[in-house]
Amino acid sequence: MSLGETLAVLTEAAGFDMSPRSERPVRARCGRLLKVLLCGKCSFDCAYCAVRTKREAYALAPADLARAFLTMHREGRADGLFLSSGIPRDVDETMAGILETGEILRRSGYTGYLHLKVLPGAARADIAEAARLADRISINLEAPSASRLSEVAGVKDYRQDIEKRQAWIADAMPGRHTTQVVVGAAGESDAEILTCMERQYRRLGTARVYYSAFTPLAGTPLQGRPAATLWRQNRLYQLDALVRAYGWRPDRVAEVLDGDGFLTDADPKILLAREMPPVDVNAAPYADLLRVPGIGPEGARRILDARRRRPLHSGADLRRCGVAHRAVEYLVFEERDVQTTLFAF
Ligand code: SF4
Repeated sequence: MSLGETLAVLTEAAGFDMSPRSERPVRARCGRLLKVLLCGKCSFDCAYCAVRTKREAYALAPADLARAFLTMHREGRADGLFLSSGIPRDVDETMAGILETGEILRRSGYTGYLHLKVLPGAARADIAEAARLADRISINLEAPSASRLSEVAGVKDYRQDIEKRQAWIADAMPGRHTTQVVVGAAGESDAEILTCMERQYRRLGTARVYYSAFTPLAGTPLQGRPAATLWRQNRLYQLDALVRAYGWRPDRVAEVLDGDGFLTDADPKILLAREMPPVDVNAAPYADLLRVPGIGPEGARRILDARRRRPLHSGADLRRCGVAHRAVEYLVFEERDVQTTLFAF
């Protein structure tokens, strides 16, 4: 098989990892990201994963992968690289290949976006080296807790191989690491995912948690299990935004979960807003404006700025602040003079 054909197979195999799809690279905005595995075979037993079912060990040497990527980069076909790998034999050996690829790229003068995956059980020195080379590093949790992971991946020790490594990652690259949870593979509730989410953002400083709806794959032990719905994945992203970007307390957002700890197919921000009194757009502090569906951090800042000059009266005033019209039904437009609003927040 040619280098190009091997690269195509390993690029397709890397599709199970959600993380870089919507990632905003730290040093540079990255348009087209080449997402690829160094090796497409794995000796681990994660029951949801397609890589473990592969019989043929497609793999690239670090020098070949670096050369292929640099060619694509020069030709404008790839702006950044996300590199992960199956673990054919030994974690240290595979990490060495990932690091060698990064080292070759940096030595060749490549200064663009590089995301390196840290494998479960990686050595601390390798994590430090990955942090030195890459713009972003990540280790996948895959499940929200040790007991849930043990149901779908018996080889991995959640506390030792993942949580301990993630704490090292957080030390080596504070605020610039990500992770992924597979939703629905292990029978976990959204309440469990919310607890995990809170820990990631508040205690570990994780930049982003990505959620990947479980899809049963032929040839895996979970092939007969129902797929997780895409709406569940999308509602988890909305819940995540409330915790991560808006700083809402998990006990508050947990009010949108049903009695069994699951989300319904409705926007959690709208569900919460319906339970609260209307917000006075001319007096509410920033945090209260954020409660309103249709008002995000940027819209809230624009409202604060606009009402310093004059009170807002209508949906047209909101539109001028870049706020969606649907926000109007959750707001009241109390009259205040400018002097009052100057000291209202
Ligand atoms: S360690 Fe990664 S590549 Fe290997 S089976 Fe598990 S999820 Fe798949």
